[in-house]
Amino acid sequence: MKETSIINNQTLLAGFTSGKYGIWSRNEPQDPPTDDYKALSRKLDAPLSRFIRPYQAGGDKVEIVSSDKGGSGVIKDNDLRKVDGLITAEKGLVLSIIAADCVPVFLYDASAGVIGILHCGWRSASGDIIRTAVERMRTIGASTPDINIAIGPHICKNCYEVGEDVRKEYAGAFSEKTLQKLFSIRNKKLYLDLSAAIKAKAAAENIPVDNISDSNMCTFCEPEFYSYRRGDRGKQNLAYIMLK
Ligand SMILES: [Zn+2]
Repeated sequence: MKETSIINNQTLLAGFTSGKYGIWSRNEPQDPPTDDYKALSRKLDAPLSRFIRPYQAGGDKVEIVSSDKGGSGVIKDNDLRKVDGLITAEKGLVLSIIAADCVPVFLYDASAGVIGILHCGWRSASGDIIRTAVERMRTIGASTPDINIAIGPHICKNCYEVGEDVRKEYAGAFSEKTLQKLFSIRNKKLYLDLSAAIKAKAAAENIPVDNISDSNMCTFCEPEFYSYRRGDRGKQNLAYIMLK
């Protein structure tokens, strides 16, 4: 088991954990919460009815949520389907997403009291999820110069081999200059830097570069995190953020 703190200050708490078992999803809507969620609930001293996790689909959909969605995907079924981003301005609500190589992106405007979390695979990272999240945060009080972005543990640029199809799709979303930063070739293999793609998308939304941080941890390199590429199936890490 491995966990890392992303933010822990007076107003915010955010982290990334493998959990003991890497099991955050239940098989049936009526199933009890998983042991990993129960343990995290005790650790954060937040009831499970305040946790939210959407059914992720690797897309661009971002939803603003409040306490009526509390427990969704954790202790009750929910209608947050094909949702890869959650935003809230409500204190004590734990927004969470699962990831096993994809990028967990934490967003916050601490002065406005607005937070968000995103699950970014390669497709989302080249799409509109960052723009949508920033726009949604602004509708509930955040302002762009005050939005911070923390990039959590994910498969790193030295480990993430991709096919030509990915580069082709990225060619439609980034300038040639940016593409040269995102892709590298070693031993005739193509590698993608997901972190750099997210930073480029954040820059395009005018997020100040000083507001962007990166954990620089790799789920593939670090054996205690779950990694899809390394062979883990049905087991993931959980990323979470909460306004205190
Ligand atoms: Zn790595």
